[in-house]
Amino acid sequence: MSTQTSLDQPPLATIPTPASELVLCRYCDLLQQLPALQDGEEADCQRCGHELDARQRESAIRPILYAISALFMLVLTNLFPFVGMDAAGSHRDMDFLDTSAVLLSENYPWLAILVWLFIQAIPAFCMIAIVYLKLGMYIRLPALVQTARLLYALKPWSMVDIFLIGLIVSFVKLLTHFEISLGMSFWAFCIFCLLHLRTFQVVDRHELWSRIAPAPQPVQGKIAGETGLSQHLKVCNCCTALVPLEQPTCSRCGTKVRQRIPDSIQKTLALLFTATILYIPANFLPMMETVSLGDSIESTIISGIILMWQDGAYPVAIVVLLASVVIPVLKIAVMFWLCYLTTLPQSERSQHGTWVYPVVDWIGRWSMVDVLVVAILAALVRFDALVGVYPGMGTFVFACVVIITMLAAMSFDPRLLWDPSPTEQLETRQ
Ligand SMILES: [Zn+2]
Ligand SMILES: [Zn+2]
Repeated sequence: MSTQTSLDQPPLATIPTPASELVLCRYCDLLQQLPALQDGEEADCQRCGHELDARQRESAIRPILYAISALFMLVLTNLFPFVGMDAAGSHRDMDFLDTSAVLLSENYPWLAILVWLFIQAIPAFCMIAIVYLKLGMYIRLPALVQTARLLYALKPWSMVDIFLIGLIVSFVKLLTHFEISLGMSFWAFCIFCLLHLRTFQVVDRHELWSRIAPAPQPVQGKIAGETGLSQHLKVCNCCTALVPLEQPTCSRCGTKVRQRIPDSIQKTLALLFTATILYIPANFLPMMETVSLGDSIESTIISGIILMWQDGAYPVAIVVLLASVVIPVLKIAVMFWLCYLTTLPQSERSQHGTWVYPVVDWIGRWSMVDVLVVAILAALVRFDALVGVYPGMGTFVFACVVIITMLAAMSFDPRLLWDPSPTEQLETRQ
């Protein structure tokens, strides 16, 4: 049904946006009346403050221009030398693609594929998808709905901003032993990062979807100010449409819609326990092995931080400490606390959970910095067999911890923080 939508519809720019519509907040499940927004306006949820909708100025042209410029910069990033390094009379140039290619050729395929996906494939796809979706507002194009679904599924895994921080950390680590020259591609990559971030800022999910395909028919007799749960309504997390409780899939985007994520707390707890257990070996196993003229030094997360502190690279030591120790530990602890909050009676629950959840959800991916640093160093520091950096088992385990905590945050349903606790639900049934 959804594949037909884009071909049967007139160009999207001609689809009128409704004067006012009912929306359900994805974070607290409150049904509310969303007024028609003017360009530059934003509407937030009355209960939890989460953004419901925003109207960007020039909502089609600006994302297209930003995304095309970003793609152009990504092409430039791949064309010229990225970084040059001098050590003891020998010079080495690294291209952007080398970060994955060297790892692949040296039997670290899992790290190579992750890095390639996070910094090249997914970001490039996201930019192309945005151009395609926005062009769909002017000309008829097929598969707009599928493209938008994939875009929002992949968005959290685009990690160019984290890679940029990883590059800066790596350069500071290297500066003590090598002379580094930044190539044309490095600057193109910096501009790509900024344009990539800006492109996502000027695209709003609710507005994008209302342009791609008309929202399903308004639901009669529903009252704004009450929860979706009490009115047999659920929200499609992919396209923000309202879906009646008895309908299994969203009629706009075809995604399976559930009133709450099934077994959300059990799944989240299982993932959190796994991450906690894996985080222990991640701290003891070597993140990387540095070989220098026959000497081999293995460093763990903590010993790497201590080394940088002793070298006087305080800001970078703090960044790595935050990304590899503070954020993962805090994220796991906070996620456990959020799971615990859902079991308390509503009156005893701390309302801080509501704003804490989006923060930990967003911040978790930054822990990937150290994994990317190892990938960058392994690609850069390669002067024949005598001097080199090799990823250790710790990097693999730590990457798993970060990915598992990201999945834990995704399987947690924030609406449970507003729902009656399981005991209260039992009491009302009796
Ligand atoms: Zn809300
Ligand atoms: Zn949908």
